[in-house]
Amino acid sequence: MSLTTYRRKRDFTATPEPRGRTGRGAGRLAFVVQRHAASHLHYDFRLELDGVLKSWAVPKEPHPVPGEKRLAVHVEDHPLEYGSFHGRIPEGHYGAGSVAIWDRGWWEPVGDPHAGYRKGSLKFVLHGRRLRGGWALVRMRPRGSRARGEAPPGDRPGKENWLLIKERDAAAAARPRAR
Ligand code: MN
Repeated sequence: MSLTTYRRKRDFTATPEPRGRTGRGAGRLAFVVQRHAASHLHYDFRLELDGVLKSWAVPKEPHPVPGEKRLAVHVEDHPLEYGSFHGRIPEGHYGAGSVAIWDRGWWEPVGDPHAGYRKGSLKFVLHGRRLRGGWALVRMRPRGSRARGEAPPGDRPGKENWLLIKERDAAAAARPRAR
């Protein structure tokens, strides 16, 4: 796993964000959601895997209603230390704006997370304060990629569209009843 893209985008003499190391977390796999008021407000959804935070930018607040889908744009791996970051990224720098920790906790993969991540179908249980229970991240097939004979999305870094989906379970919020 590599933090090359993460580091290339940032000037660590100017931003308070961590430069980070790839490393091993302790025990439980961390998960964090950061509310990032950048040029467009979004929620950065991060899951620890292989010593980094796998990351998706979710334009709309994640919502624990079963079956409800949120676009989740896959972005570069972030260092584990990023999970504790909150603060202000200065104007003129990548991601300028404020970052707040919106939720954090740990996650449990359902099945092999490496195979799931590669395949673009990751199922897991979240143990956070806001987000709990069963969730899935599913990669959308890029439009026309087959016809153009492109490499499978797993071979290209970043910017793939995935969907974040709440699974039906006891932690799901009740869907508002139709009147
Ligand atoms: Mn962000």
